[in-house]
Amino acid sequence: EQRDLTQYRSLQSVSADGYAVEIAGNISKQEDVDTVVKNGGDGIGLFRTEFLYMNRQELPNEEEQFAVYRAVLEKMQDKPTVVRTLDIGGDKNLPYLKLAPEMNPFLGYRAIRLCLDQQEMFRTQLRALIRASVYGNLKIMFPMIATLEEFRAAKALLLEEQQNLKNEGYTVSEKIEVGMMIEIPSAAIIADLFAKEADFFSIGTNDLIQYTLAADRMNENVSYLYQPYHPAVLRLIKNVIDAAHRHGKWVGMCGEMAGDEIAIPILLALGLDEFSMNASAILKTRAQITKLAKEPLMKHVEDILMLATAADVEQYVRNHLVVSD
Ligand code: PEP
Ligand code: MG
Repeated sequence: EQRDLTQYRSLQSVSADGYAVEIAGNISKQEDVDTVVKNGGDGIGLFRTEFLYMNRQELPNEEEQFAVYRAVLEKMQDKPTVVRTLDIGGDKNLPYLKLAPEMNPFLGYRAIRLCLDQQEMFRTQLRALIRASVYGNLKIMFPMIATLEEFRAAKALLLEEQQNLKNEGYTVSEKIEVGMMIEIPSAAIIADLFAKEADFFSIGTNDLIQYTLAADRMNENVSYLYQPYHPAVLRLIKNVIDAAHRHGKWVGMCGEMAGDEIAIPILLALGLDEFSMNASAILKTRAQITKLAKEPLMKHVEDILMLATAADVEQYVRNHLVVSD
């Protein structure tokens, strides 16, 4: 079944009944931007900046990072570009940081926890980002936020560096949105409280599923528990989207689930605003969304959220929600 997807490159990301969404790309390197643009991405929903720090002997300095962020923003030409601050730890290690081995790296000293502790390193990244902000439509988000204090502390450092840069004579954008990943169940559950303070959310389902089911995302022996359609995961996602919308904030998803064709009709019905994925999945997703009508799908949300198992959810979607062409 060879389908010609190139026709979707220049089409808008709109459902069959006229609801617009954003279909964005995930990137790890500057060069990945070209692939997103070539595949017609509406923006960058996740720039995993840890790759700037990997495979080298020391931390990248401010100038080096600034050059990369600037190049990415310029290539995106004012399209929304969400950059995630350093998410190291867990499965990604930086030998030169000489971090102590941990019993449970995924529950340990990583991401925002490490950045709030090693502030010089974090401030360098924030400064590079803020300086680059004048070259495009930059949005910054923090990974692995579990508590409001963490979000507040990270945002305070950002605002402090923004002021420092202004005092030093730099021009910086005054409209950088500051958001957060929702990938820890505690954050998903109190999304209403975060929504008062964050400009946007991006749901990281790769981690959210792992932490909700307590199933290591790298462990083959428990992969049967890694269930994107588990009712608990779906209810958390609904809670996050509803809380954000009540506060006038937008919600994206940058975990693998955003490009999953079974999940997409559910996510559209739940009101997800932005779907961010591997560039190679963008056109296929746009093709799917343009064929789905959101309002009829919304009538199924209540039923879906009452289903007991992931298998029931998948069967329901296949029976009722999938458009085949
Ligand atoms: C996620 O957790 O869903 C996510 C997008 O981040 P990463 O895969 O980099 O942990
Ligand atoms: Mg993650």
